[in-house]
Amino acid sequence: MSTPVPANTTTRQLPLGVALTCPHCGSRAHIRTSKLVTEIYRDAWALCTCCGFKGRAHVAWDAEVNPSLMPNARVSLPRIEYREAIEQFFADTQDGKPQQDLFLSSG
Ligand SMILES: [Zn+2]
Repeated sequence: MSTPVPANTTTRQLPLGVALTCPHCGSRAHIRTSKLVTEIYRDAWALCTCCGFKGRAHVAWDAEVNPSLMPNARVSLPRIEYREAIEQFFADTQDGKPQQDLFLSSG
């Protein structure tokens, strides 16, 4: 039997498929719990099942390429051009190509 969760909670358990790259061993650090701080900012706790590291991460929206079809009046993000943003995003990598993604999907 699961513990009831209040309807207005902003903390939730996430499925094991959501993960970050462990900063120590490079394996999957699964996000186990996260808390919505604002509409665009979330704190998350992640656990690496390979090396045992456990830490807190911050995830935030900082720009938009396409506006939402259901916009939230409290959310205002700068609009960016996708192609230009992607070029700048990878400009400081060694070969101008994507590196291992910070966020890992559950493959
Ligand atoms: Zn690790």
